[in-house]
Amino acid sequence: MPILSNLSSATLFELGKDAIIIADADSGKILEANNNAQQLCGLDLHQLRQLKLADIHRDDFQSALEAAASDEDSIETEEALVCEILNQSGFNAICEIQFHRVEQDGRTLLIEIARDITERVRASEEINLRNVAIASFAGGVSIADARQPDLPLIYINRGFEELTGYKAKEAIGRSCRFLQGADRNQEGLKVLRDALKKGESCVVRLRNYRKDGGLFHNELHISPVHNEQGELTHFVGLQIDVTERVRNRDLLTRSERRYRLLADSIEDLITRRTRDDQLEFVSSAAETMLGIQAGDWAGRSYMERVHPDDREACADQTRRVFETGDPATIRLRLRHEDGSYVWIESTESLSEALEDGGEPLLVSVSRDITRQKQAEEEIRQALEKERELNEIKTRFISMVSHEFRTPMTSIKASTALLRDFGERLSEDKKTRHHNNITSALKRMNQMLDDVLFVGRSESGHVRFAPIPLKINAYCRELIESMEFIDDNPRIDFSSDLDDNAEFPLDENLLNHIFQNLLGNALKYSATAFPVRFSIRKDGSELIFEISDQGIGIPKAAQKRLFEAFYRAENVGVTQGTGLGLSIALRSIELHGGKLEFSSEEGIGTTFVVRFPTSPANTSTTEPQS
Ligand code: ADP
Repeated sequence: MPILSNLSSATLFELGKDAIIIADADSGKILEANNNAQQLCGLDLHQLRQLKLADIHRDDFQSALEAAASDEDSIETEEALVCEILNQSGFNAICEIQFHRVEQDGRTLLIEIARDITERVRASEEINLRNVAIASFAGGVSIADARQPDLPLIYINRGFEELTGYKAKEAIGRSCRFLQGADRNQEGLKVLRDALKKGESCVVRLRNYRKDGGLFHNELHISPVHNEQGELTHFVGLQIDVTERVRNRDLLTRSERRYRLLADSIEDLITRRTRDDQLEFVSSAAETMLGIQAGDWAGRSYMERVHPDDREACADQTRRVFETGDPATIRLRLRHEDGSYVWIESTESLSEALEDGGEPLLVSVSRDITRQKQAEEEIRQALEKERELNEIKTRFISMVSHEFRTPMTSIKASTALLRDFGERLSEDKKTRHHNNITSALKRMNQMLDDVLFVGRSESGHVRFAPIPLKINAYCRELIESMEFIDDNPRIDFSSDLDDNAEFPLDENLLNHIFQNLLGNALKYSATAFPVRFSIRKDGSELIFEISDQGIGIPKAAQKRLFEAFYRAENVGVTQGTGLGLSIALRSIELHGGKLEFSSEEGIGTTFVVRFPTSPANTSTTEPQS
């Protein structure tokens, strides 16, 4: 016989949200289940009829089920049970369950009505969790009713009680104002009142007082809460005790003030800068050291004052100190306001940042070492000069021992011959020996003259006495006299100038110049090659050019050519004192002129002498003797 025999009970069976399952009370076998029950279990009626009631509930339900099945006195369980109904998908539903026992046709039926309360349970669990979280939060949490005048507190957590010393029963119903005591004139209060009036959130720091009167610094975070209609209903407040932080900051500010006072009272420049080169502090020594007001430099870049050549080293040291934390010293130049550079020696180390959680700062203590640097430079120059003088002395001694030996040997030999065999020598031979002696003496004399000339010109004792000189004629005569000695005419002379062209020149100095330059060109080139000597006028310059196709001057020797007694290594046995070019250069400079040259080893050399033609351009070096 069908269990749901009439239409009304069958309709009721399917109506509503509840799941209904009918089972045999004795065997527990499932007989009927409505659609809701089938969905709840994830099984169709046919599948459910294969199971017993116990099969679709969690194990811990067994005893409740047995009680319900055997309880002959009651027809239904008094209280709704809460238990899980097993679902095939694994997502079990938490249900509120009630049993009804019905006698039908001599057998007992058990009707289970189950209501799915999973969502409700989960939501309340979540709320519980939040409540626990709020209650156990170490800071203070409070909720004020925004719809009542004076915003009375309706909730405070344990943190609030601990922070303020007030219990919930003492605080609830009161405005939070009681925490300020009589201390009403606070900057933060204005901000707070304004935010509350506008229903906005805010963060303020307030001086608040505990129940025992103790001061604490309260960082108060206020957030408004609105209902679904958008109406402002509550304010949630979060109170954080920042007393320690404020106290530390005060201490830091005080020690900072002392630090600045100290830093400003010493001569050394003290700066403090961030890792990205922002000056956070500059002591007043900046004014005396760099001519800049400390306040004008603070807040700007430190590096902008560092000499461009020292920036890399400075950046390297900054990086190293920040990375290792070890102090380091550096010497560098800082720009003074007047554009000059000041040498400083700077010791840099790390200090703690002023603000909580900020980065450490680089402290530089810098001493002006410009004077020390100058003294070092003077010593370096003096040593360099001494080294040069020593070198000149060595070269002089070597020159004298080489260049004086030949004429002296020649004199010695000729005088010995004349003394021992004079009577037996022919007049001709005697004359040759006398000439030998004379030319050797002349050569030695010339060498001494050259040495003296360099000495005199260095001390400014060489006279510059220009007279109008017909330059073509002068050059021809000079060449003739040189070729007379050499008796191998190979100077190829050319001039763009008129034979009557005259220039104010010092003939004596000109001799020094051209005898040396032409002499060198002849001396350092093979006799087969001509030496070209030309004159031209270019604008306001009188230009002489002497070029040869000789041994040339090695690159390394070229920059030292004008040093006294200096000779290039490729001269071989060619005689020379290393003085000719110094003499020529000094003589040219006395004319206000310039000497240039170009040379390639093994190819040849060209010397160019440039004289200014207008007297205004000529040197006015005054003779001193
Ligand atoms: P020196 O008496 O040695 O010739 P100088 O002062 O006249 O001294 O020249 C210095 C050096 O310059 C020479 O020793 C030589 O090495 C080099 N020098 C000068 N002129 C020439 C030139 N025309 N060709 C090659 N080398 C030259």
